[in-house]
Amino acid sequence: MHPFHWVPADGERHATTAGRPLGGYPDGTVLETLCGRELRAVSGELAWLWFTCPDCDHEAHRMAGAPLPRRHRSRVAPSSTV
Ligand SMILES: [Zn+2]
Repeated sequence: MHPFHWVPADGERHATTAGRPLGGYPDGTVLETLCGRELRAVSGELAWLWFTCPDCDHEAHRMAGAPLPRRHRSRVAPSSTV
């Protein structure tokens, strides 16, 4: 069990060490994230499709003692040729 939880907030998925209530953080809960910001939690299925905050990702991997994947997904959407 890692000492942090993932939470969608401000358009990205962040990680926080704040205690997570049963069923998840209620909408609007202000949480201090691993990237050093204070953000309001957002609930809802679509929020989980957001990109992972790279700073939280990095910190979460460090806390978990896991190496980061070598290649990080680009945060810029690839240009489509439709
Ligand atoms: Zn973050």
